[in-house]
Amino acid sequence: MSALKDAVGRAVDGLADELEALSHRIHANPELGYQEVKAAGWLSDFLTAKGFKVEKGVAGVETAFRATIETGEGPTIAILCEYDALPGLGHACGHNVIAASGAGAGAALAAVRAELPRGRIQVIGTPAEEGGGGKIKLIEGGVFKDVDCAMMIHGMDRYLLHQDLLGIVRVNFDFTGKAAHASVDPWEGVNALDAVIQTFNAISALRQHVRPNARIHGIITNGGAAPNIIPEAASATFYVRAATLDYMWEVYRKVLACAEGAAHATGTELRIVRIPTVYEPLKSNKTLLGLFKANLGRLGIPEEVSDPTRLGSSDIGNVSQVIPAIQPYIKIAETGTAIHSRAFAEAALKPLARQGLVNAAQTMAMTTVDLLADPALVHRAKDEFAASR
Ligand SMILES: [Zn+2]
Ligand SMILES: [Zn+2]
Repeated sequence: MSALKDAVGRAVDGLADELEALSHRIHANPELGYQEVKAAGWLSDFLTAKGFKVEKGVAGVETAFRATIETGEGPTIAILCEYDALPGLGHACGHNVIAASGAGAGAALAAVRAELPRGRIQVIGTPAEEGGGGKIKLIEGGVFKDVDCAMMIHGMDRYLLHQDLLGIVRVNFDFTGKAAHASVDPWEGVNALDAVIQTFNAISALRQHVRPNARIHGIITNGGAAPNIIPEAASATFYVRAATLDYMWEVYRKVLACAEGAAHATGTELRIVRIPTVYEPLKSNKTLLGLFKANLGRLGIPEEVSDPTRLGSSDIGNVSQVIPAIQPYIKIAETGTAIHSRAFAEAALKPLARQGLVNAAQTMAMTTVDLLADPALVHRAKDEFAASR
């Protein structure tokens, strides 16, 4: 397979200018989750031009797509693209690089189509990773039903094969009290802001008693209208994260108890509105990660040391709970650059990001070649997945 891997590597090199231009175009036109009309359109056009059959709006999600090439009966390997931006910060998560590298891996495989082992390659456009849970809608819509293995990359300040992702549940607390003049008749009022503040204080006390990899963080979304009015309405939003779903729900119940206690103490009414989308923890797959690592090694890239305390969440976690799926990290920024920062948004345009894009596309294309060439590896990945349930 090594000649074929060399060929996909060269194909990516040949596409590098086009891929970088695609990445920059997406970066210059940041679109929020489920509004990525331009990005989804450019990626679909690119993949169509490279010989893919592209279905737009899969699973009823307008800005999702599935691009397929088929070389006969064999495994179905999916390469996932993200392309949503962050409010106010543009592409500070570098999803422009994820998009271009996924499309580039697909295009490189299409370029050697005649030599490819039998199977199916799908480049799947997954919108709204930043909170909207696009992959969850695609799972529910059956997009991953016939996929054997999936992979994607994420930009980072270093190369990492695997970093755990936490499950996350999000909840809004709306407290209702009674308005009154804050100086003339404060005793007539029922203070909804006090309930929010007591919720924060109770959660701060809870924090000592949760496991180190759990996270609880919130903001006040409504703190009242004016200082001379006892706030009759106040609200907060909290995110609760943990390494397992069981523990996430356990901590979530304790967080609800904090808000209920605050409502009781202040005499306010509490409405709890849970955001239905839950991101699940990332299940790792040693078989797929081993292939990815070996291919990174072919490019002369060693894996760097991960920091197990840097923990986020993503809807790739949900995909990894239904099929074998991996999300290695590719260096696209100088070491020490934090994601979701303005510095990371700038980095996602620089030569280091181009290098990361090329390396990512090559590694994903080579890993796909491995899986198509030896379906026993696909079975091994699936057996490992089933055993770790
Ligand atoms: Zn992000
Ligand atoms: Zn991201």
